Amino acid sequence: MFTAKDYAMPQSVEEAYEILTARKTNYIVAGCAWLRMGSRRINTAVDLSEVGLDFINDTGDAIEMGAMTSYRSVETSSLLQENFSGILSRAVASIIGIQFRNVVTVGGSVYSRFGFSDFLTPLMVLDTSVHMYKDGVLPLEEFMKMPYTKDILVKVSVKKAPVIASYQMFRNAEADFPIVNLALSKTDGRFKVAVGARPGRAVLAPETAGYLTRALEDFRNQKDPKALDENAAQAGKILGDEVGFGSNMRAAAWYREKIAKVLLKRAIREVEGC
Ligand SMILES: Cc1cc2nc3c(=O)[nH]c(=O)nc-3n(C[C@H](O)[C@H](O)[C@H](O)COP(=O)(O)OP(=O)(O)OC[C@H]3O[C@@H](n4cnc5c(N)ncnc54)[C@H](O)[C@@H]3O)c2cc1C
Repeated sequence: MFTAKDYAMPQSVEEAYEILTARKTNYIVAGCAWLRMGSRRINTAVDLSEVGLDFINDTGDAIEMGAMTSYRSVETSSLLQENFSGILSRAVASIIGIQFRNVVTVGGSVYSRFGFSDFLTPLMVLDTSVHMYKDGVLPLEEFMKMPYTKDILVKVSVKKAPVIASYQMFRNAEADFPIVNLALSKTDGRFKVAVGARPGRAVLAPETAGYLTRALEDFRNQKDPKALDENAAQAGKILGDEVGFGSNMRAAAWYREKIAKVLLKRAIREVEGC
C-alpha cells in the first residue's frame, strides 16, 4: 500500500498542477486501484475528484472523456455504446467486476500506459488525442512512445468518423489480465490494426493494415468467403513479422503470436460482417 504524508483536494487543474510540481514526490491520485498495489511513498497526494474531470461529452466532431471518468461510465455511456462500434464500452466491460470498474479511471489508465490495457488498444485504432495540462494535445500514438513526465492528463478525445471496429482479447481466466489483445478499425475502406498485451505497450501494425486495405477491397469485389480466410491468413503472417511479442509468466511469445493471428481473423470477420 502507498503512504502519503499530506493530502490535497484542489479545485482546478491549474491548482492541481502547482501542487503536483511543487515537490518531486507529490503525485496525482485517481481511482487508486493501481497505486494501492505498490508501496510508493508520496509527500502530497493530489486528488482530482473536485476538479470537474468526470464527464463524457459530445463536442459535435469528437467524444471527450475526462480523466476522472470511471470505466463503469465508459461501459454504460450510450454515447460510447453508439459510436466507434461500441468497442470502448465493450473493451472495458471485461475488466474484473463492476465495483472495480466504478473506481478505476480513464486518466489513471491512459497516463500509466500499461502494456496489458484493454482500453488503450481500441483507442489506438481510433482517431484519439490525449490532452495534457502542460504538454498540450498529443496524438495517442505519440503519447504511447513518450516517457512519464510530471504532468496531468486532463481528458482523452476521440474524433467521430464513419468507423467500423472490433476489439478482441484472450485471457487465461476471466479476472486475469489479457495475454494478448487486438483492435481493428475500418474508416472509409482504410484499416488500422493495434496489438496490445504483447506483453509490452500497444502498437500499431501499419503493414498489416495496409495489406488489409488493399486485399479486402479485392475481396469485397469478389465476395468469395474463401478469399477472406486466405487474406486473413496472409495478414496474420505479416502481423507476426511486424509486431514483436514477448514472454512472461502468462504466456510465451510464440503462443501470443499464434493467438494474435486468431484474434485478427475474428476481427476481420466482425468488421467485414461475415
Ligand atoms: C488488480 C488489478 C487488475 C487489473 N486488471 C486490468 C485488466 O485486466 N485490464 C485493464 O485494462 N486494466 C486492468 N487494471 C488497470 C486498471 O484498469 C486501471 O488502469 C488502473 O487501476 C489505473 O487506474 P486508477 O484510476 O486506479 O489510477 P491510480 O492507481 O489512481 O493511478 C495510477 C497512476 O496514474 C497516475 N495518474 C492518475 N491519474 C492521472 C492523471 N489524470 N494525470 C496524470 N497522472 C495520473 C497516478 O499518479 C499513478 O502513478 C488492473 C488493475 C488492478 C489493480
